Amino acid sequence: MKDLLTTDFRNAPYWWDAAPLTESPGRALAPSYDVVIIGSGYTGLRAALTLARAGRGVAVLDKEAPGYGASRRNAGFLGRTLKKSYVDLKAVRGPAYASAIYRDLSVAYESTLAFIEEEGIDCHAIRCGRLVVATSAAHYAGLERELAGMKADLGLPYSMVPRGRLREEMATDLYDGGAVIPDLGSLHPGLYHRGLMTSALAAGVAIFGNCEVTAVERGGQGDRFGVTTAAGKTRARDVVIATNGYTPKSLRWHARRVIPFVGYMAATEPLPPALLEKQLPRRRTVIDSNLDIDFFRPAPDSPRLLFGGATANGLKDPAAIATLLHGRLARALPDLADVKLSHVWTGQCAGTFDMMPHIGCHDGIWYGMGYNFAGVPMGSFFGLKIAQRILGLPVEASAFEQAAFPTLPLYRGSPWFLPLAMRYFAWKDARLARST
Ligand SMILES: Cc1cc2nc3c(=O)[nH]c(=O)nc-3n(C[C@H](O)[C@H](O)[C@H](O)COP(=O)(O)OP(=O)(O)OC[C@H]3O[C@@H](n4cnc5c(N)ncnc54)[C@H](O)[C@@H]3O)c2cc1C
Repeated sequence: MKDLLTTDFRNAPYWWDAAPLTESPGRALAPSYDVVIIGSGYTGLRAALTLARAGRGVAVLDKEAPGYGASRRNAGFLGRTLKKSYVDLKAVRGPAYASAIYRDLSVAYESTLAFIEEEGIDCHAIRCGRLVVATSAAHYAGLERELAGMKADLGLPYSMVPRGRLREEMATDLYDGGAVIPDLGSLHPGLYHRGLMTSALAAGVAIFGNCEVTAVERGGQGDRFGVTTAAGKTRARDVVIATNGYTPKSLRWHARRVIPFVGYMAATEPLPPALLEKQLPRRRTVIDSNLDIDFFRPAPDSPRLLFGGATANGLKDPAAIATLLHGRLARALPDLADVKLSHVWTGQCAGTFDMMPHIGCHDGIWYGMGYNFAGVPMGSFFGLKIAQRILGLPVEASAFEQAAFPTLPLYRGSPWFLPLAMRYFAWKDARLARST
């Protein structure tokens, strides 16, 4: 085991090397704010920034250090697709709904890139293109169907990469070809979050770490909500819940609707540049076509490969996670079988029962959550949308705002069924693979 890890190995996100978490200055909560936001990731901060620039008094409260959540832990893939495929959505909900949802995904994607540029956030945001590798011939056919459907209806570009040409994109023989979506992007999630936080602080947002919210109640001295926290009480006219995969059970209605699960990632030690270039010559992000995905990318700021997978497998011990991830890396990219890992980390994601992100207002409290691995653009987009709604701006409603947020009877936020669901996904992937 020891041989898998570098001597300076860290059980922490690689992104924290460039964007370490910082403690917020110790100061007291004010008696009241216009808006209190629970959670300091992309969703919370994007909402906070927009509200503060419109003149609102805003506090962002986080249970941990600001940015502790998935926003400084993710892979930094920037896309405009969902786990819920366009073709499936169109078949089940009809073409108008599917187009509206996928159009909004494009808006979220483009507006996130535009926002980063306008704010001047230096976070290696680029349109590097994404390679989706097919885990079987049937997956390749399914991928082509999906992308052809999106091109025909939405004009979104792609090109197929047959097995014989895959090595132009990735040093692997594991997959049955793939597809390139040329305009999708990537960024450094830690630097993006840090830039967003810098802008929010400059706009006057008060950000509190170590400030767990334990209760939100209606009523109280002219303001609409009383907010109880580990650092005392405050009040707010509006409250936003932006806790996604970290949503506590005390927020009962929301916890009943999100399915928290753990995502795993690792970084290799610095690699010889020629070895790294051979693995991903086009420097694209890579994701496989399984429901239980593996994903790869070059680090934007050092010669390392970053990768993840084995989502929600139940492991907690960093050494065991490192062994599992290293095995998956070596299986896909055999040239890297002997490289060591310098970082291994985890983060909480949120699935939903309809595999769609959700935004809305329940009992007067705003929320954006359930990003199903698409929270970099969708969290940023929903944060903006929530702020626009609170400000009463006459902006067009997002297609996501129309959907009910489903739960299941007896579900209280403990996803005991996750191991079964992951096994079901693996069975579905294998069944599709056998179907040619
Ligand atoms: C390993 C991994 C890889 C991923 N890769 C990608 C990717 O490549 N692309 C992509 O689009 N998405 C990806 N995601 C998902 C994405 O990171 C998230 O969807 C997104 O960051 C969610 O942002 P958020 O602001 O809603 O929540 P978060 O950033 O998770 O923040 C929630 C915050 O709420 C706080 N909180 C919880 N309870 C309380 C409380 N009671 N009081 C106060 N604060 C509280 C938590 O401490 C936390 O800081 C990935 C996620 C993981 C874990």
